[in-house]
Amino acid sequence: MFDNLTDKLDKAFHILKGHGKITDVNVADTLKEVRRALLDADVNFKIAKDFTTRVKEKAIGSDVLTTLQPGQLMVKIVKDELTELMGGETAGVNLSGTPSVILMSGLQGSGKTTFSGKLANFLKTKKGKKPLLVACDIYRPAAINQLHVVGDQIGVEVYSEPENKNAVEIAQNAIKHAKANGFNVVIVDTAGRLAVDEQMMNEIANVHAAIQPHETLFVVDSMTGQDAVNTAKAFNDRLNFDGVVLTKLDGDTRGGAAISIKSVVNKPIKFIGTGEKMEAIDVFHPSRMADRILG
Ligand code: GDP
Repeated sequence: MFDNLTDKLDKAFHILKGHGKITDVNVADTLKEVRRALLDADVNFKIAKDFTTRVKEKAIGSDVLTTLQPGQLMVKIVKDELTELMGGETAGVNLSGTPSVILMSGLQGSGKTTFSGKLANFLKTKKGKKPLLVACDIYRPAAINQLHVVGDQIGVEVYSEPENKNAVEIAQNAIKHAKANGFNVVIVDTAGRLAVDEQMMNEIANVHAAIQPHETLFVVDSMTGQDAVNTAKAFNDRLNFDGVVLTKLDGDTRGGAAISIKSVVNKPIKFIGTGEKMEAIDVFHPSRMADRILG
């Protein structure tokens, strides 16, 4: 995960570690390499620039030039700033409702259906919940089948109405079904498109308005870098979602989406997907991720 970024940051810090005497030129060179590493990771230019400016201010404030271990101090400053950039604290999911309704949004192929299953499995096995999965994709029968396959795999019931072409109705009926049958979490998987389009946005906005979920999650493929950030912005403008799920981190060698998405939409990353299996889900911890990035 993020191997390229980890390697490049390591090389940047070597500029400081390799020198007997630390000068402001070395520090500036290091920061230039840190910025380049972020840009190569597909972090937006302004975010990368602001990041290195903040690191520089902190480095000056903490006398990085006079310390005996400037490399280590610099790594710590970068780690703290990366943690902040990725949201600082770990963010939870709102499970206060009876049932708690969680709406999934995102483009087709982002990993929404897979993640719906992973989350249901996580809440069932780790939190003792009784979740209901809801197939609200009215365009692709294959998507409904896929959710049923996932549900069978994890032993979670799936609600669907294959003949109904009204996503709002299906979601509302599913919530009634959940209330009547003792489900305490309802996870609504919605239709995605290959790119942001008006019809899809209207549909999910209608479902959102009708069921008023306790939690709306935006699912995005982390490998798509700045595109992921732009898509997040488009969905957030419409849905004002509560959190981000970054999928396919196992295949992401760059890390740009993980690093920049929080500061662009001002919503925390709540979960990550790290593989195709139902167990490949983790709660996102900004400081642990910063540790991993720094190797
Ligand atoms: P949806 O169209 O948004 O519902 O996307 P799917 O859930 O069908 O996922 C699209 C593809 O990505 C499938 O082949 C999944 O197995 C795969 N996928 C989903 N999440 C992950 C992940 O975290 N890691 C990897 N490697 N593959 C994933």
